[in-house]
Amino acid sequence: MKNNRYGAGWAFLWAALLTTLVGAEEVGYFADNGFGKPLATLHHPSGEYYQGSTYLAYQGPHEDAYVCAYNHLTKKWTGPLLAGVSPMGKTPDPTDNGEVDNHGKPAMMVDGQGYLHVVFGGHGGNALLGTNLLGTPAGIGRGGKLIHLVSERPEDITAWRVLDNISPFGTYPQFVQMEGGAIYLFYRHGTHQSDWVYQKSGDQGRTFAAPVAVLKHQKSAGSEVHDAWYAWFGKGLGDTVTATYMYHPCAYPGHSKARQNVYYMKMNAADGSWENVLGESCEVPITKEAADRKTRLFDSGADRCNHGTCRMDGEGHPHVLFRYKGGQVRYTRWTGRAWTDPVAVISDGEEKGQDGDLVVESPTRVRAMLMRTKGGQHEVGWWSTVDGGQHWEQEAPLFSRPGGGLDIGALIEQGSGRGLVVVSEGRVPEHLYRKMYLLGEKGPVGREAAEASLIQPQLERLRREGARAVPAAKGKAGKEGVEEDD
Ligand code: ZN
Repeated sequence: MKNNRYGAGWAFLWAALLTTLVGAEEVGYFADNGFGKPLATLHHPSGEYYQGSTYLAYQGPHEDAYVCAYNHLTKKWTGPLLAGVSPMGKTPDPTDNGEVDNHGKPAMMVDGQGYLHVVFGGHGGNALLGTNLLGTPAGIGRGGKLIHLVSERPEDITAWRVLDNISPFGTYPQFVQMEGGAIYLFYRHGTHQSDWVYQKSGDQGRTFAAPVAVLKHQKSAGSEVHDAWYAWFGKGLGDTVTATYMYHPCAYPGHSKARQNVYYMKMNAADGSWENVLGESCEVPITKEAADRKTRLFDSGADRCNHGTCRMDGEGHPHVLFRYKGGQVRYTRWTGRAWTDPVAVISDGEEKGQDGDLVVESPTRVRAMLMRTKGGQHEVGWWSTVDGGQHWEQEAPLFSRPGGGLDIGALIEQGSGRGLVVVSEGRVPEHLYRKMYLLGEKGPVGREAAEASLIQPQLERLRREGARAVPAAKGKAGKEGVEEDD
């Protein structure tokens, strides 16, 4: 008895000492085990707010899918916990980002019953997984496999299982959940030369119908170029889904990272029909020719355009962000009669490495959550317009980092009003691990250092070994902090 009390006393003292030393210290990040490029706007949502908590997914060690939860009432974090193992991960962890595939990062959502869904791990699959009727698989031993995980229990990130109900060939997973409960999973059905498709579920993701092609890949008429696409799908007004997309002229040999033009169309979920912004019917899968004729909102010529996001106003008119040339965010909206001239949202700072998402409050009042670089400083925060996008004002930055870049996801789903977004460090000198931050209206949602710093001993070892991280594969056109879509 005496010994027990004595022991308990020491345990208490030790806990108090630990709290004094590290536990009481709060840090801005919620985890330090993001890996490579842990998240991107193209893989979305990266998180969802549900019943008082925000659930997040990102790419962690070995490119595996990790999840975290933050309870806004108790201000307590749970996780990160390993949800699923990526078939593309490597051991030991590479220190050259060129060896990290980075395409298998997760998208996640919470269904109507509170179960959590994560889709991750795919970059086209390979022929051992079957025959890809809608595209081109990666080579044997490459391409991973698109995997669908569901939580064992609602609102609980601790236990997961695989549901074998989606195509293994997918990459760039994107969930769109309708008010009526239908769940759409959009993705590219293979490597570059593949259709973009969706699978629809009417039973909370337990089963999915066969893929339906939306954007058609095919050899371009009279040339060696193969028509290919990059696309971002989102919830529209009512029972609709928006598609904004870019053209990729894909050719081997002489492959380039060219992305051109911006296109928009909309699906009426009730019957699966698609229409352009004028309401004219579009047959899917849409071809390059039809897309040029009916859905192109911006002709970039040979200049590079890359995807951003698209959100609708209360009149059902789309507002579109896209990245132009080196990654300068531009904004345009449909007025009901025409697309406005695309405007550079950020007028000062470097015209590269920008990315982000939109909150549309009315046809003329819009806020953009963006990351950008100015004077070597990387910032994340809001820019807002009250005149329909002609002029934008920067609000006080929510987060900044002096060098090394950042990566940003799309806004947390159902949390747009709360303005939550996840960002990660773009790179650090010694390794490919990145601190992860959840940003709210006041900046990072903090966490006790002892909870957030999970892999510090490992990172310390990497530092001692003098490893040098290689931030991006040599020869790639990308700049720091810019997702290299592939
Ligand atoms: Zn290509």
